[in-house]
Amino acid sequence: MPVSSGVHHITAICGEPARAIDFYSRRLGLRLVKKTVNFDDATAWHFYFGDEIGSPGSILTFFARPDMPPGTPGAGEVVSIAYAIPTGSAAFWIDQFNDEGVRFALAEGGRAIAFHDPDGLALELVETTAVADMPGYESETIPGEHALRGFAGATLLVGEAAATARVLTQGLGWTEGGRATLGDYTRIRFDAPGKPAIGGALDLLARPGLPKGTQGIGGVHHIAFRASGDAQQAEFSASVRALGLTPTEVRDRKYFRSIYFREPSGVLFEIATDGPGFSVDEKLSKLGTGVMLPEHYEARRKEILEKLPKAG
Ligand code: ZN
Repeated sequence: MPVSSGVHHITAICGEPARAIDFYSRRLGLRLVKKTVNFDDATAWHFYFGDEIGSPGSILTFFARPDMPPGTPGAGEVVSIAYAIPTGSAAFWIDQFNDEGVRFALAEGGRAIAFHDPDGLALELVETTAVADMPGYESETIPGEHALRGFAGATLLVGEAAATARVLTQGLGWTEGGRATLGDYTRIRFDAPGKPAIGGALDLLARPGLPKGTQGIGGVHHIAFRASGDAQQAEFSASVRALGLTPTEVRDRKYFRSIYFREPSGVLFEIATDGPGFSVDEKLSKLGTGVMLPEHYEARRKEILEKLPKAG
């Protein structure tokens, strides 16, 4: 069975494009590594944020949908995203959030700072010893030593845990790392093989009979898992097909190649290759400064850009 080395990226839906860019790049210090459009729908911006090069495991992306209603949380959704910060950095972030007027609460015994983005997406910063040796991206506003390194975890809300757990373990090679019960809910931790420092943990939060959520602003569209390359992606395609799921054919996303399937509780899963990465159409020093379109939209560039909302 192939084994996934963790989460590749998470894609959510934001409202006003300029507000999302300000929050993630200026306030959180992530690098805007790519400004493009939804490859399946050129009327929506698609922004990629990450570390300096947009490493797999650090990438949070947004489809901007200012006209969409807010999402309602429910089964079949990623409901919370945690970024790892080095141990000792929480004090910096608490000062920063106080200065910036970002409302927050402390979680996990004071190890984590819980807050929301301007559209209501639930986020956490978690102090993690495992990222001590990882360099941080030095942005204009956030010093590299305190920078967000990559995903510490994400929480998937499901109606029934067993079927989703089977996809993670038998389909992707993750292992159960413990469970706890909170009222009607069961929380089950899963670890990626080798427990990588970033993108290596997921929580399933399950409550039988939980109604499905609806997609909208402030919600997550899908979560992508890493494949080392095309061969491993094909192995994942076969392993999830063996569980009765129906992955798509490979789609070229320019910065990686992807397959998609909906896991049994309704969360949209993607398997994305690590390469070729974000330097394929912009120099590393210039990432995110241009509007990069896929070839099939390039001939319509002027018309497409005129119709997009202002992005700051
Ligand atoms: Zn994706």
